[in-house]
Amino acid sequence: MLQIFTKLLSAKRIAGCKDCQDAKLRSIEGKQQKYTLFNAAVDTLKGEFATAEEREKRLAICRSCEYLEKSKNSIMRADRCKLCGCFVHIKAGYTNASCDIQKW
Ligand code: SF4
Repeated sequence: MLQIFTKLLSAKRIAGCKDCQDAKLRSIEGKQQKYTLFNAAVDTLKGEFATAEEREKRLAICRSCEYLEKSKNSIMRADRCKLCGCFVHIKAGYTNASCDIQKW
C-alpha cells in the first residue's frame, strides 16, 4: 500500500506529447522575442535605456532594412517597422528591446 502511495506521489504529470511541448516552447520563445509597449513602459520606469552608440547601431540596421517604413513627415521622425509596428527611433533606445527577426 505504501509503495502504491509513494508511486502516485512521485509520478510525473503527463504534460502532453512532444509536439505539444515543442509548440508551447515556441510560443513562449515567441512571446519573449516581442518587445511590447508594456515592456517599454517598465523599462522607462527602471531607466533601462540603451547607450547612444548602441541605439545608433540599431538604427543603422533598421535604415537598411526592407521592413522599415520611412516617415514622409520631415519635421517629426516617425519611421516605423512594418513587422512590429514600432517607431524604431524609440524602440532602439531601450536596452532590452530587440528586433522581432533578430537583426539586432
Ligand atoms: S526592427 Fe528589425 S525588422 Fe523592424 S525595421 Fe528594424 S531591423 Fe527591420
